[in-house]
Amino acid sequence: AAKARGGGCYAFCSQELREEAQQKKVLVSGLYRALDKGELVVYYQPQVDAATGNIVGVEALLRWVHPELGFLLPDSFIPLAEQTGLIIPIGEWVLQTACSQLAAWKKKGLRIHRVAVNLSPAQLRDPQLTDKVHKAVEKAGIFPDNLELEVTESAVFQNPDEVIALLQELKKLGMRVALDDFGVGYSSLIRLKMLPVDRIKVDRRFFREIPSNRRDVAIVENIIQLARSINAAVIAEGVENGQQLEFVVDRGCYEIQGYYYYHPLPPEEIEALLLRTQDRKD
Ligand code: C2E
Ligand code: MG
Ligand code: MG
Ligand code: MG
Repeated sequence: AAKARGGGCYAFCSQELREEAQQKKVLVSGLYRALDKGELVVYYQPQVDAATGNIVGVEALLRWVHPELGFLLPDSFIPLAEQTGLIIPIGEWVLQTACSQLAAWKKKGLRIHRVAVNLSPAQLRDPQLTDKVHKAVEKAGIFPDNLELEVTESAVFQNPDEVIALLQELKKLGMRVALDDFGVGYSSLIRLKMLPVDRIKVDRRFFREIPSNRRDVAIVENIIQLARSINAAVIAEGVENGQQLEFVVDRGCYEIQGYYYYHPLPPEEIEALLLRTQDRKD
């Protein structure tokens, strides 16, 4: 990195590295207590059926309200949670929180049947994962198929046999499985066919230059086609504008999760939104 920035910056760069390491230490020590101190919160981003405008599900997305640094997005602390193993208790908490949030919405008569929760590679290696997922669903009193578990394509193919077995176990319990960030690793059809997946989430990176970039156009078209051929549903993540929406809808992908419709929102805003959109429909 130092070299790339040119010859004369060694002193500066080492100071920069020290600051980075220091920042990391501050974050890690804070992360150990964040759960107990109630600093972690779960936001939810609606998943919309473009044909009707109805919200068909939500994805649980973690945020950290840091006492000094403020509102932190997962990219700034999930990797640290992953490295330190803290993602295990944090991930379990997200599962429990998301399941009981869905139960609370359903109890209020709101029509919402799917909450999706991200599972990190470390969680996929946790021998107690199935048990924890099962308990979260039972304790909340939701149906297993109300819960969708998101695993990234790259996490799966780090360890295909183990993860496939795990996903089969979860499917047996009735949970749904989505393949997140799909297209980046570009799995072969053969490997994909062995995976018990209900839904493929097209990675948002492919939409940035849709419809102008011909390569991205071809990739997205192929992914939609691929999903169809393995009988999986497909959802487009990161749709931000009307052109991108039109593009995917024209190709038969109606489920959308993106800023075009909604950003991730705190639970009380989701509740208000569900009330509003359901009123409109009735
Ligand atoms: P992801 O699972 O792929 O989640 C979707 C990300 O795309 C979210 O970022 C969401 O805010 C963002 N997004 C959605 N629509 C748009 C759009 O139209 N434009 C743009 N630019 N972005 C959009 P977020 O919330 O920052 O989360 C980032 C990643 O952090 C997630 O990517 C997921 O990998 C990870 N993550 C979040 N919550 C958890 C969690 O509870 N556990 C684990 N293990 N990972 C999590
Ligand atoms: Mg996800
Ligand atoms: Mg994704
Ligand atoms: Mg991601």
